[in-house]
Amino acid sequence: MRAGRAVQIILLSRYTSNMLSKERWKMTAPNGELGVLRLWDNSLMIWDACRSPMRALEVQVGIVLEYIDPADLPGLAAIHLVDKADPPSATSSARYTKAFNQGLPIQGWWGRFTEESFVAVLNIPAVLRGLPRPLWRTPAATMRIGAVLSHEIGHHVLFMTGASSDDIKHEETAADAYRDRVLAKMRTQLKYRLGDRMNKHLADNHWVFGVACWRDGEFRRAASHWLTAWTLDNDCEAKNWYWDAVEKAKASENSRSAPFK
Ligand SMILES: [Zn+2]
Repeated sequence: MRAGRAVQIILLSRYTSNMLSKERWKMTAPNGELGVLRLWDNSLMIWDACRSPMRALEVQVGIVLEYIDPADLPGLAAIHLVDKADPPSATSSARYTKAFNQGLPIQGWWGRFTEESFVAVLNIPAVLRGLPRPLWRTPAATMRIGAVLSHEIGHHVLFMTGASSDDIKHEETAADAYRDRVLAKMRTQLKYRLGDRMNKHLADNHWVFGVACWRDGEFRRAASHWLTAWTLDNDCEAKNWYWDAVEKAKASENSRSAPFK
């Protein structure tokens, strides 16, 4: 464990950005929320409002920001790290509301911060779903944070350049394309390719666990494993099977609770 921790510290300390403030300010936000504030480039706020703020995650947000074109950041006032997604409100996007109501873990969202500025929010437990905690300090986690953060910044860029669309599918495809360009830049480095491989390896394991649960008729557990596999690897076969497992789970739970006739 000690050796593992030393490796983690070396991995992260080498790449700690100069642009990310070294100072972390523990403080209370105007809405009463407790958190840790750091600054990127002396202006963009990284607000870590998780119950246990983790320096390593803030650093990884800083690492991902190094792969984002600075010209894409004006107007983005803050990046929030949270550990739960709030129920949708009247101002939530249709996609957010739909995903929340379907019970899907919402990994991130982008929205208005003030009248003129915007915020990208990362729901850390959903972003890092399926990654064992010791890996939260490694490039595997950086790639997961990179995937979600760059997708949300993609929405920001689309909005700021007047290219956003009311057609959800079109908008999401464009934000994904932005994300893929950022991830491709990250993958030029070996450590991020290895991080990716680790995520795919974990996804494959969850896919296989899900298959075993499906064969045993444990559809709820199969769905949970496949959702994890899908989160870790967007290309995993599991995403084609997740909804089938959810339907089967609902059907078998209903038939179990049906009264005898
Ligand atoms: Zn999106």
